[in-house]
Amino acid sequence: MNDTNCIFCKIIARSIPATIIAENDNIIVIKDIFPKATIHYLIIPKKHVQDIQSLHENDATLAGEMILMAKQLSKDLNGSQAFRLGVNSGADAGQKVFHLHFHFLAGKINLAEIG
Ligand code: 5GP
Ligand code: ZN
Repeated sequence: MNDTNCIFCKIIARSIPATIIAENDNIIVIKDIFPKATIHYLIIPKKHVQDIQSLHENDATLAGEMILMAKQLSKDLNGSQAFRLGVNSGADAGQKVFHLHFHFLAGKINLAEIG
């Protein structure tokens, strides 16, 4: 299921370190190593999916869980902390790590770039 050359799969497998903010059976949330906002988390499915284009119909629940995780993070931060969710889906859109992830940005946000 996981890709041995993928940095996020390695983080999920605990073979490289990351600051873990939240985790459940299907999703892990880590701090971005180069934050573009005061708060910059990455919401990552544990299953290796390259990008949104690679999602299947039966991934609908997983995709929904990723959005609901953003809601939970918002609640945990400040009751209902405002945030921006962003996805770079495909190299031409700026994706650099080819394991699907949502950028969760809050606080002072550098709007110029995520990724
Ligand atoms: P993308 O450009 O693919 O949408 O975003 C990849 C994100 O992953 C970037 O914001 C980058 O800072 C972050 N990132 C890359 N490598 C690592 C890493 O090893 N650990 C963590 N925590 N974040 C990473
Ligand atoms: Zn992966």
